[in-house]
Amino acid sequence: MPVEADAIVIGGGPAGATAATVMAMDGRRVVLIERERFPRYHVGESLLPATVQGVCRFLGVDREIARAGFTRKFGATFRWGPSEEPWHVGFAEAVFGGHSGRPVFAYQVERSKFDAILLANARRHGVRVRAGWRAVEAIAEGGRVSGVIARDAVGRATELRAPWVVDASGQAGVLATKLGRRDYDPFFRNIAVFGYFAGGRRQAGPRRGNVMSAAFRDGWIWYIPLADGLTSVGAVVRPEEAATIRRIGAPAALARYIAACPIVAAQLAGVARVARGALGETRVMKDYSYSTRTLWTGGAALVGDAAMFIDPLFSSGVHLATYSGLLAARAINTCLAGELDEARAFGEFARRYRREFAMFYEFLFAFYEAHLDDTSAFWTARKMLGIRGAAPREALVRLLAGLGQAEGEPGAMAGVLRSLERQMDAMRATMAGRAPGGVRARELRQRLRTQARERLSLHALSETAGARRTGRARTPRPLFTDGLVPSADGLRWRVPRSGSGASR
Ligand code: FAD
Repeated sequence: MPVEADAIVIGGGPAGATAATVMAMDGRRVVLIERERFPRYHVGESLLPATVQGVCRFLGVDREIARAGFTRKFGATFRWGPSEEPWHVGFAEAVFGGHSGRPVFAYQVERSKFDAILLANARRHGVRVRAGWRAVEAIAEGGRVSGVIARDAVGRATELRAPWVVDASGQAGVLATKLGRRDYDPFFRNIAVFGYFAGGRRQAGPRRGNVMSAAFRDGWIWYIPLADGLTSVGAVVRPEEAATIRRIGAPAALARYIAACPIVAAQLAGVARVARGALGETRVMKDYSYSTRTLWTGGAALVGDAAMFIDPLFSSGVHLATYSGLLAARAINTCLAGELDEARAFGEFARRYRREFAMFYEFLFAFYEAHLDDTSAFWTARKMLGIRGAAPREALVRLLAGLGQAEGEPGAMAGVLRSLERQMDAMRATMAGRAPGGVRARELRQRLRTQARERLSLHALSETAGARRTGRARTPRPLFTDGLVPSADGLRWRVPRSGSGASR
C-alpha cells in the first residue's frame, strides 16, 4: 500500500526539517524520509542570526537551541585584504529589524546536535519522520511529480504519494539533478580540506565566539570555535591542489595550509587534532558551488543544497537552506489551501530565494575580489576569472542571467548584474592605490564592513519571525512589484492589500 500524505520531504537536514515543520504547523500531513539515523555528522557549523533568531524562533525551537549550550557568535573576524591586521564585524552593528536593543548573535554548532534538534522539533509538530529510508526516484504522472519511490530501513521499495514533494536532500539532489540542470560555478570552484582540533585559542571578550576567516597564499582558512576544547578548521584552496592532497594525504595537507597561515597557526600552536570518532577524520570536499536552473515544477520544489550553494566564507548555507525551506512550505500551504495558483505562489518562493542567493553571491564575489595577492596562484586565478578574463566573466553573467530567465525575472537579474558591476568598479578603484596598512586599506576594510553589516541584517526574515512571537505584526510589504506577502501567521503567501507597494 502506498503511503499517502499532503507532502513528502526528502532529507532531514535544516532545509527539510524547516519545510516539513512549517507545513505541519499549517495542519498538513507530512512524511519526511531521511537516509541516515540522527545524530549524523555534517559540515557547516557557523550560523547566522537570521537562522538562530529568525527561522528557529519561527519554528518554536529557539529556546531549546539556547539550552543546548552552543557557543554564541557575536560576529566575524577577518584577516583579509591588504593589511596583515585582523578586523572584525559585529552583528550588533547590524540593523536587525524588529530586534533592535536586543543582543544579536548566532551560534557555532556541531551540526549533529543542531540538526537533531530541528528534526525532533519537526516530529513534535506531527511530521512523520522515516529514518534510514532512502529516496530513490520520483514518481511522475501526467507531467507532474506525484510521489517518491523509497527504500525503507530494510531495503524494501515503498511508494510514497503526495501532491507535493520537496527535495531537501542536500548535495545528493535526488530530484534536483533530474529536474533542473546544475550549473557549477566557475569562480568559486575550490576544494575544502577540514578537520577538528581538541582545543585552540579564543579571542578575548565578546569576540570569543567569532568565526575567523584568514586569507593566506594558497586560499583561506576558517577557524570556528565550537564548544570549549573543540575547534573546526578548514582550508579552501584551488582545485589544482587535489593532486597534492591525494599524494600527501588530507591531514598532512591541512597541517601544511595551517602552517602557511600565521594567524591560524598561532591559535593552534601545541593543539592536537581530534583523534577519534566522526570528528577524528580529515575530510575533503569539492564541487559544492552550484545552482540549479529550475527551482520548482508541477508537484515538486527544490530547497537548500539540493538547489544551490555558493561558498563557506559567509556562513550562508544553513541560512539559505532554512530560508528556502520556509519559502517553499508557504507556497505549498497556499496551494493546498486552494488560495492561489501554483505559478503565483511558487513564483514568489523562487524570486525571494534567488534574490537572497544573489545577494550573498554578489557580496562573496566582491569579497574574494578584495583580497589582492599578485604572488599567489589562488588569488591571481580569481582575479583573472573575475575581472580580466572575458570568457569566464561571460559565463558568470550567463549563470545569473540564465537563472533570471528561468523564472521570467530578467529585470531583477539585470539589476543584480548592474549592482555587481558597480560594486566591482568601486572595489577596483579603492584597491588601485592600495598601500598595506595605509589609508586605502582602511577605506577598503570600512567598505567591506559596511557591506557585511547590510547583508547580515536580513531584515525581511527577522520581521516575520519577530511578529509571530511578539504579536506585533507589521503590515508586510511585497519585495517585488506584483509580489506576495506572508500571511499574518507567516505560514502562507497572500496578495497584499492594495496600496502596500514593493519595498525595493
Ligand atoms: P543537508 O544538511 O546536506 O541535509 C540533507 C539531508 O538529506 C542529509 O541529512 C542526507 O542524509 C539526506 N539525504 C540525502 N540523500 C537522501 C536520500 N536519497 N533519501 C533520503 N535522505 C537523503 N553553511 C553554514 O551555514 N555555515 C558554515 O560554516 C558552512 N560551512 C561549510 C563548509 C563547507 C566545506 C561546505 C561544502 C559547506 C558549508 N556550509 C556551511 C553549507 C552547509 O553545510 C549546507 O548549506 C547545509 O547543510 C544545507 O542544508 P540542507 O538541509 O540543504 O542539506
